[in-house]
Amino acid sequence: MRNCNACKHINITEKEQNKQVKNHTSHACTRHNVVLFHNSSNPKIIHSFVYPCGMCNGMDFELREGIGYAK
Ligand SMILES: [Zn+2]
Repeated sequence: MRNCNACKHINITEKEQNKQVKNHTSHACTRHNVVLFHNSSNPKIIHSFVYPCGMCNGMDFELREGIGYAK
């Protein structure tokens, strides 16, 4: 399964989210209108992996350009 941070349909990547000072925007798939989840829901564990939504499932990914999350 691919990291959804690499998909261009993600509304906000982990990197972009980390720049927000407060009221973090939830990750979401803009193509399917689904909220996405991290690898871990424990806020003490910082994890950059975001699961793709069930419809994308990493199968139909269109990679963002210039992003290091692809592999
Ligand atoms: Zn999707």
